[in-house]
Amino acid sequence: MLSIPDYQTSARSLISRCTALSPKRKAIFPTLAALWLGMCAIGCSPLATDRNNATNGKPKVVATSTIIADLTEEVGGDEIELKGILKPGADPHVYEPVPADSLALEQANLILYNGYNLEPGLIKQMNSAGSNSRKVAVGEVVKPLELDKGKGEVVPDPHVWGDVQNVILMVNAIRDALSDRSPEDAAEFRQNAARLIDRLQQLDAWIIQQIETIPSDRRKLVTTHDAFQYYARAYNISVVGTLIGISTEEQPSAQTVQQLVESVKGAKVPAIFAETTINPALIQTVAEEARVKLAPRQLYSDSIGASGSDGDSYINMMVANTRTIVEALGGKYTPFQPKVTAK
Ligand SMILES: [Zn+2]
Repeated sequence: MLSIPDYQTSARSLISRCTALSPKRKAIFPTLAALWLGMCAIGCSPLATDRNNATNGKPKVVATSTIIADLTEEVGGDEIELKGILKPGADPHVYEPVPADSLALEQANLILYNGYNLEPGLIKQMNSAGSNSRKVAVGEVVKPLELDKGKGEVVPDPHVWGDVQNVILMVNAIRDALSDRSPEDAAEFRQNAARLIDRLQQLDAWIIQQIETIPSDRRKLVTTHDAFQYYARAYNISVVGTLIGISTEEQPSAQTVQQLVESVKGAKVPAIFAETTINPALIQTVAEEARVKLAPRQLYSDSIGASGSDGDSYINMMVANTRTIVEALGGKYTPFQPKVTAK
């Protein structure tokens, strides 16, 4: 007889082995499978799928990016079992899934991802995992900015969260997806989302007001990768140039670096910006060659910060980024102090 912890471990390891085997190899072990069906009806029986997938009755929800995970945690609260795949500071463009991610994606009841190809490795894994999980591309509820990659290739810009109004649409999409999965908790999701949206509306107004404190001829951004187009459009600041495009998979050529140096000189900006998810060495070189400062604080581009950092939630990341930009470009930063108005 297995003790409960032993049983759970064995069942888990069998599940992971089952999922790691190809269908052909699974067929080689009918006896083993039958044996296990007898021993652990919960672990392997197809009739028990729902019990496998839910923890204490809570749906298993997987979020790919740290931003989606943070918003989902705010809306889902204690009513969901949430797993975020990317860790703070990880770069979603180049992330390669590990076996534990495949398992989480297969076992999820609901997968919430950014989409517009922000996380190509995870999207590929998710589509090949063969699970019946519902998948919602939360970022794709936003009408995208389109980037011309040349030679007639136009791609949607995935960095939609740069505009807080877009994130409000994303919160609504998360609320609806969770409510579809757990209608009994819909009222709670609605209340959590309303509270979050109230803070987001205040954040949006605060960012507009903060950027306005920067002298207008200095409202110019130069960043490592092209992740701030939505922010720039929403908050009236222009993107003068970036070292690399919307995906960090590409490497800049020497010519691109030199062109950016010239743009920075021409724009007469007081500072340019490194990002938390990308090695700052090359943007440091651009700053030195253009004889401008590299802002002392890095921007959180595609990920929230580690727990305890000043960017450890979506709202905190937007506040920290705005502070970094305002202070480096000569504006006047005042802290964000939201009022609680929603019940
Ligand atoms: Zn990016």
